[in-house]
Amino acid sequence: MREIRIGDVSVAEIVERDGPLRPIANMFPTADIALARTHLAAMDPIVFDPVTEKLVITYRTFVVRTPKQNILIDTCTGEHKGYGAPLDFPKQPWLDRFHALGLTFENIDFVFCTHLHVDHTGWNTRLVDGRWVPTFPNAKYIFHKREYAFWEEETRRGGNPHFNIGPVWTMNCEPIVEAGQALLIDESYSLDDTFFLSLSPGHTPYHCCVHIRSQGREAIVLGDMMHHALQCREPDWSTGFCTNPQQAADTRWTFFRQYADTQTLMLPIHFPGPTAGTIAADGLRFRYDFKT
Ligand SMILES: [Zn+2]
Repeated sequence: MREIRIGDVSVAEIVERDGPLRPIANMFPTADIALARTHLAAMDPIVFDPVTEKLVITYRTFVVRTPKQNILIDTCTGEHKGYGAPLDFPKQPWLDRFHALGLTFENIDFVFCTHLHVDHTGWNTRLVDGRWVPTFPNAKYIFHKREYAFWEEETRRGGNPHFNIGPVWTMNCEPIVEAGQALLIDESYSLDDTFFLSLSPGHTPYHCCVHIRSQGREAIVLGDMMHHALQCREPDWSTGFCTNPQQAADTRWTFFRQYADTQTLMLPIHFPGPTAGTIAADGLRFRYDFKT
């Protein structure tokens, strides 16, 4: 994605990984595979690799800069977390891109996490002398308080909330609160009248999208409200990673109906470049139009 402007705000991206990742049935357990193939054949070829028959899934962080602040939205998987495949890809590219954007750990002011899954909280912390500490020492980290409480409870009761990929809450979230750097908020939170949240539950119980509004323009960081452009064609297809798949589908239908055929710019976390796009009504369903 090229750096884009939303009024006074610029948005760039840091890609941690890119490329084909998951077969259709692995990503969307209830999908009709033949129907999915029909949809994919009519879509931008960047979203699917026909050789491996895998959906292209990107992991990214958005870097949002206002005249006053540097803000990160979602922080990928991070390094030294000990994850196995498919999360054991090299992490240096994220750091290289972060620094290439002229950023230092010290000059990040805010970190938003749309939800507290493994691929959205990783760079929140880093390992220093055997302890997890906030990566960005001067940042406030914005977590929905009930999302935080949900994963705390899941972790404490010994659930396996992150699909066998380690104690994500313990490594990525709890140290932020212990360091006094968390803002535990609800969906009414706003920052400088430029950033506000909308609750978009289903993928996780208190998943939030992050709205960026400046000078009459608006963009929305979608988090995992949808993972792939295929879900515009089939909003009912939720991932196998959703806490409440039906609620996630309901959230998508409502969202698509609200934003179809508007100029609101979508910023999905998991779509391949050029990433940003708009939602259009298309027959009884919807379509994602990438903006190049
Ligand atoms: Zn995700």
